[in-house]
Amino acid sequence: MHLVRVALDVPLPTLFDYRLEHSAGELIGARVLVPFGRGQRAGIILETGGEPAVPAHRIKRVARVFEDEPRLALDVIELMRFASRYYHYPIGQVVMGALPQALRRAQASREASVRFALTAAARAADWSTLPARAVARRRVLEYLRAHGPCAPGLVRSVASTAPRALRQLVAQGWVALEAVALAPDPTVAQAPAPGPPLNADQTSALEAIGATLGRFSAWLLLGVTGSGKTEVYLRLIERVISRGGQVLILVPEINLTPQLEARVAARFPGALLAGLHSGVPEAERLRRWRAAESGRASVLIGTRLAVFTPLPRLALVIVDEEHDASLKQQEGLRYSARDLAVLRAKQRELPVVLGSATPSLESYAQALTGRYRLAQLSGRVSSQLPSIRCVDTRAQRLREGLSEALIGALARGLAMRSQSLVFINRRGYAPALLCFACGWSAPCPRCSARLVLHLDAARLRCHYCGHEEVVIRACPSCGNLDLTAAGHGTQRIERALAQLFPGARILRIDRDTTRRRLAFEQMRQRVQDHEIDILVGTQMLAKGHDFPRLTLVGVINADAALYSTDFRAAEKLFAQLTQVAGRAGRREAAGEVLIQTQFPGHPLYSAVQHQDYAAFAQLALSERREAGFPPYAHQVLLRAEARTRAAVERFLRHAARAGARLGFRVEIYDPVPAPIARVAGHERGHLLVQSASRGELQRFLCAWTAELSNDGAARVRWALDVDPLDL
Ligand code: ADP
Ligand code: ZN
Ligand code: ZN
Repeated sequence: MHLVRVALDVPLPTLFDYRLEHSAGELIGARVLVPFGRGQRAGIILETGGEPAVPAHRIKRVARVFEDEPRLALDVIELMRFASRYYHYPIGQVVMGALPQALRRAQASREASVRFALTAAARAADWSTLPARAVARRRVLEYLRAHGPCAPGLVRSVASTAPRALRQLVAQGWVALEAVALAPDPTVAQAPAPGPPLNADQTSALEAIGATLGRFSAWLLLGVTGSGKTEVYLRLIERVISRGGQVLILVPEINLTPQLEARVAARFPGALLAGLHSGVPEAERLRRWRAAESGRASVLIGTRLAVFTPLPRLALVIVDEEHDASLKQQEGLRYSARDLAVLRAKQRELPVVLGSATPSLESYAQALTGRYRLAQLSGRVSSQLPSIRCVDTRAQRLREGLSEALIGALARGLAMRSQSLVFINRRGYAPALLCFACGWSAPCPRCSARLVLHLDAARLRCHYCGHEEVVIRACPSCGNLDLTAAGHGTQRIERALAQLFPGARILRIDRDTTRRRLAFEQMRQRVQDHEIDILVGTQMLAKGHDFPRLTLVGVINADAALYSTDFRAAEKLFAQLTQVAGRAGRREAAGEVLIQTQFPGHPLYSAVQHQDYAAFAQLALSERREAGFPPYAHQVLLRAEARTRAAVERFLRHAARAGARLGFRVEIYDPVPAPIARVAGHERGHLLVQSASRGELQRFLCAWTAELSNDGAARVRWALDVDPLDL
C-alpha cells in the first residue's frame, strides 16, 4: 500500500492524501482519479510515502491511475510548486490549471503516449522459469516480443487477465512503461531554409548567446523594431534543434503566434512545430502538449500558459516582447510567464533570451547590474527608422480629432498608394454620452464607469462588465434632447476618415471587429495583400506585426497617460508608442510618425522621437529609485471585493492592522478603492505592501495569508497579486 498525496483543483492550499494498492509505473506525476466529496476528480500525484494526516483507515483509495498517460515531468512539477509558493496560490489549482483542459477531466485522455516494452532483463531472462500457470504473463511477453513496444490498451486486450499479468511483469522488472518517441522523428529531418547573412550586431549577439547553450544565462536582447531580433532567434533555434534540443518560445499575445509560427515553419520545414494558445481547440491542444512532452516537437510557440509545458529535451527559452503586460496573468494564479521562464531556464540550466525594443525596466535594471547579460542590435537591418514628429494640437481646430498635418499626410499616402495607420487606443464611437445642459453622463448602473457609445450597434456599452443599453435620446436628468458624444474612439475615427477620403479602403481593427476566431488573421492578410489603404486600430495593431507597405502612423489621444497616477504609465506609453511607430516604414520607403499632442515638449515624447530607449530608461529608473518603486522595491497588492464598500474597507483595514502587528520590514500602505471602484455590482479595493527585500516580503506573506484566512471576513473575496503590474 502506498500513501500518495494528490494535487486537486480545489481552492485549499494543500495536497490530499489517498491510498493506492499497486501501480504499474512511477507514481509521482501520475494522473489519477480520486473520490472527493460526493463525486470523483482528476488529480496529479505530487508526493508519496510519509505519514498520513488522518488515521489510515479514513484515507480513501485512489479510484484509478491513468497508466496509459505519461507522468508529469518532475521539473514542471517543481516549477508549479515554486509558482504556488511565490504567488501564494493553492498548489492543486496551480497544477490542474496549468494542464490542458482534457487532462483536468475525470476521464482518460484519448491519446496514449506511453507504451509497454520488454526490458533488457526480460530479454536476457529464461522465460521457462515462469510458473506453468502464468499463462497470461507468457502471452503478454510473447506479444511484446512479436510486436515491439505497444500501447497499453492493446497489451491489456491480449488476455482477460492481462492487466494483472502486466502489473506482475512490471513489478518483476520485465516490462516497463516508456514514453513514446523521446526524440524528434528522424524521417522528417530536413535542412533548414537559408536565412539572410547576419549583420555584425546580429553575429555578435548570436555568438555570445550561442556560447551559453548548455548552461544557465539570462539574456536581454535589446533592439529597435526591425533590427533583426527574430532572425537571431531563428539562428539560435537552428543551433539547438540541429543538436536534438527543444525550444520554448513565449509570445505575449495569441495574435502574434501565427506570424512567428509561419516564419519558424518556413525556416525549419523538417522540424515539428507546436503552437499552444487559447485559440487552439481542446483536443488539438492536448495533441500538441503531448508532442512537446514526448519530445517529438522541436519548437513550442505559445502564450503564457505554455511556460508549464513539459519539454524533455528543452535547451533554449525565448520570451519575445518581454515587456508586454499580457505576459502577466491578471486573474487566478497571477503569474508572470516571463519570470517563470527565467526560473525554468535556471532550473534546467539553459539560456533564456528576453527580446524587446523597449524592455521592462525590471529586466533592464537586471541587465545594468549584470545579472542579465545584454545583447544589443543597433538600428534597423534594411531600412531607416521612421521620422517621428509631434503635432501640437493646442493651436488648431481638429476635424473629428484629426489635425490638418495628419489629414495631409494621409492624403499623400493615398496618392502614393502606400498604407497608413491611425492609432487610437480606445474602441467604440465615443467614450461618453454627455448632457451639456446639466452635466449628466450615461453611467453604467453596475460599475463606477461611464458607458461607451457604440454607434454601429446603436448601443451604450460598459467596457468593464459588458452591460448594454439602447442609446437614449433625452437626458434622463433634465430632459435636454441634445446629448453629445464626447471624445473619440476607433469607430468615430473610422467614420471621419470615410468622410474625408471617400475612395479609401478603410479597415478598423479592434476587439469589436476581431471577436470571431481567425478574424484578426484574415484582416492581417487583407492588409498584407494591400486590399487596405488606411487602418484604424487600437494597441492590438501596435505589437510585432510586419506590414510591408505601411509608411505612415498617426497617433491620437495618447496624452492621458502623461498625467496618470500609475507609476508605470510613462513606461507603458513609451513602449506602446515605440511599438506603434515601429510599424512604419519597415521596407524601402521611409516611415513617418505623427503624434498629436497637447504637450509637444514633454520629455517622454522627445525620448520617443529620438528612439532612445537607454536615455528614457536611465531617467525613468532614477525616478523609480528616488520614489522607492520597483524595480528598487518589491510589491504585493491585496485585492478585495464585496457587495458593500463598508465590507471591503473593514476587511482591508483589518488586513493592514494584522500585517503591521506581524513586525516584518515591509511598508503597508493605506487601503484605497480600486481605480474603477465598482464593477458589476462589486465594490473593489486594495492594499499595497512593499519591501526592499523580496525574501522579507515573501516571509511576511506567508504569515499574513494565515491571518487573512483566519479572519472570517464574511463575503469578502480577496486575492494576492505578487509583483502587480496594474495598481
Ligand atoms: P525584429 O524581430 O527585431 O523586429 P526581424 O528579425 O523581424 O526584426 O527583421 C526585420 C526584417 O529584416 C525581416 O523582414 C527580416 O527578414 C529582415 N532581416 C533580418 N536580419 C536580416 C539580415 N541580416 N539581412 C537582411 N535582412 C534581414
Ligand atoms: Zn441633462
Ligand atoms: Zn459596467
